[in-house]
Amino acid sequence: MINAKFLILLLFFTFSKSVIAQKNKVESWKTEAMKAIDGKQKAAQEMVDMVFSFSELGFQETETSAYLTGILEKNGFTIERGIGGIPTAWMAKWGNGKPFIALGSDIDGIPKASQKPGVAYKEPIIEDAPGHGEGHNSGLPLVILSAIQVKRIMEREKLPGTLIIWPGVAEELVGTKAWYIRDGYFKNVDACIFTHVGSDMNVSWGDSGNNGLVSVEFKFEGSSAHAAGAPWRGKSALDAVELMNVAWNFKREHLKPTQRSHYVITNGGDQPNVVPSKASVWYYLRERKYEDIRSMYDEAILYAKSVATMTGTRVTYQLLGTAWPGHFNKSIAKAVYKNIKLVGLPTWDPSDQQLAKAVQKLVDAPAKTPQGVLIDGLKTKLDTLNGPVQFSWGAGSDDIADIAWNVPTVVFRYPANIPGTPGHNWADAIAMATPIAHKGVVAGSKVIAATLLDMLTNPEITTDAWDYHNNVQTKEVKYIPFLEASTPPAIHLNKKMMDEFRPQLKKFYYDPAKYKSYMEQLGIKYPQLEKNSLKK
Ligand SMILES: [Zn+2]
Repeated sequence: MINAKFLILLLFFTFSKSVIAQKNKVESWKTEAMKAIDGKQKAAQEMVDMVFSFSELGFQETETSAYLTGILEKNGFTIERGIGGIPTAWMAKWGNGKPFIALGSDIDGIPKASQKPGVAYKEPIIEDAPGHGEGHNSGLPLVILSAIQVKRIMEREKLPGTLIIWPGVAEELVGTKAWYIRDGYFKNVDACIFTHVGSDMNVSWGDSGNNGLVSVEFKFEGSSAHAAGAPWRGKSALDAVELMNVAWNFKREHLKPTQRSHYVITNGGDQPNVVPSKASVWYYLRERKYEDIRSMYDEAILYAKSVATMTGTRVTYQLLGTAWPGHFNKSIAKAVYKNIKLVGLPTWDPSDQQLAKAVQKLVDAPAKTPQGVLIDGLKTKLDTLNGPVQFSWGAGSDDIADIAWNVPTVVFRYPANIPGTPGHNWADAIAMATPIAHKGVVAGSKVIAATLLDMLTNPEITTDAWDYHNNVQTKEVKYIPFLEASTPPAIHLNKKMMDEFRPQLKKFYYDPAKYKSYMEQLGIKYPQLEKNSLKK
């Protein structure tokens, strides 16, 4: 009897000892990876500055994709290019067997956001050119940095697992992630950690409070005529566009306050003396729930057809982008948050804070965030782990949600930008090739590396993630794509604009062989708070 008891006790101790030993081993690997990433600050700066200088818009990220896949290939990753018929999309893989962990981030820029980094006033590199006024130049460098370090440890320790790195192409157009899902690129993925630039270091789970959307362009075709000589013979496509917009603006009164809808006229005709035979208008229709987005989408189609009848024109339409409302995974968020606490916010220098405060003044930043957090320089105190948003008046959209409704996913935000900027604006590019972005990327990279090591050694994180995904997130809400099997990705978008600016931008691509930083190449002394102190 005593012998049996003793044996059980002995077994228990041996077991817990091995659990503790394993835990200690993982912790030491994390420390090792984080130290190694600290030693790669130069590589981080180079990648962040390089992608910043490419300044490419959605679907036209050719230089960015060639550069980043080149680095991954050199580090042993296998690349599948042009996935889903999208020339700038790709998937990089390395490893062996399960778990399959996907690491992604967006890579596209914003029109008219060209801006010199590190200066606290408006100064485009090239007037009206695109730029990284969203900070999408920093996410994949972060992911690549962590994956390379984790890969080294996986090789040495013979840890099973497959790392998959992928870009959010044309995120500003919500143009690819639903297509990746439709075309099966995430079919075998066990978990996805997505990273996005922020001005804080945080992660959340549950309903994010974001809206989903459809992006749809309506093209009208009528017939032209001499606008003075025989206007009665013309059927104006522009009339149809204008009537469509008037109808939609009346409709706003009867939509829920959570909706957001906005449009641009992509073709308004050629010249006033020719009745426009062709005209088009591009809508983003956003709401908090699938059913409400669907209903707005259906009504917009009905309006388009109705105004076509009124004007004697024909209408066709194409879905250019789509995103579901955001909902993110609890188990993975908890794992990431543990490592956020481990790593902590970067240590900012007085020069970083000076630039941040000057930019906040420049953009007339609000005193507090909508959540009531004070906006004053760069963040120095960590956020808590946030759960589901209880109420939202509606917000922006991100097609990472389409991945998240199919595979357990979180969005990890790292502190590479300045709090209080307006977003999608040239001012959002100011910090994105400065020490603020470089430090944010290094810190974020450590969090991702540590989380990867946790997930590779503790299968419970993924098991719990799928339990949440199947039994909480998708228990009642089922993913219904807005895409049809035949909807092509809108790869024609931004081509004209990029063709116009690329030759000029080329002259400003970062040359790391000559300059320690992109700011040095542009002759900027960091932080440049006043315009007239810029070096000639
Ligand atoms: Zn973004």
